[in-house]
Amino acid sequence: AEEVGGGDKEVVREYFNNSGFQRWKKIYGETDDVNKVQQDIRLGHSKTVENVMAMLTDEGPLKGVTVCDAGCGTGSLAIPLAKEGAIVLASDISAAMVAEAKKQAEEQLLTDSEGVGPVMPKFEVKDLESLNGKYDTVVCLDVLIHYPQSKADGMIAHLASLAEKRLILSFAPKTFYYALLKRVGELFPGPSKATRAYLHAEADVERALQKVGWKIRKRGLTTTQFYFARLIEAVPA
Ligand code: SAM
Repeated sequence: AEEVGGGDKEVVREYFNNSGFQRWKKIYGETDDVNKVQQDIRLGHSKTVENVMAMLTDEGPLKGVTVCDAGCGTGSLAIPLAKEGAIVLASDISAAMVAEAKKQAEEQLLTDSEGVGPVMPKFEVKDLESLNGKYDTVVCLDVLIHYPQSKADGMIAHLASLAEKRLILSFAPKTFYYALLKRVGELFPGPSKATRAYLHAEADVERALQKVGWKIRKRGLTTTQFYFARLIEAVPA
């Protein structure tokens, strides 16, 4: 049987260790050297992170809550979570991404002298299929775009198996309009389109969750000009 992620996964790992790392570090950063499209994606992504923080803190304070941030990128979510006192495991398939996330966390999370400051997240280089253990909450933002629907079901089931209370996922929604946009994008691929992007129908994600006994409790949507993300919070049914 083909490994989850298959050959796509090696391409994704290679991309996010090289050109993809340079591109996304810039988008997720704060420097001015971004073009209009990158600026727009930066804004959309930061709104997704804000929405996730709101979803999480809605249910009560995060102090001492264990969170697994699967596919953590440069730490855009792991760091604010740690600032709220969550105990975070942040992992990513890309060693370059993990190194950057760790560097930023060390810069931003200076523990105070009484030792009551944020807990430094634990950072690990591993693909999310290799994650194990149990966490109150598992979060996986903007990673499903690298999974075709045939692999997405297994990925969602695995993440749900790690979560005790809730699972938060974001993905690019497959609606007619976005599917069309993507097709146009494929007809005119730009130089930075090194990996394939997969859109997902919300109904398919919902079905994958139902199969393993989970249901969607909250939904959110972030759209800017070039960034679209459906956000869902799932809980055991
Ligand atoms: N979640 C982060 C955020 O929202 O800021 C990063 C999103 S970025 C678009 C996608 C990330 O997923 C990259 O850092 C990439 O290396 C990671 N990734 C892709 N496939 C993965 C896999 N199978 N296991 C773990 N990480 C993966």
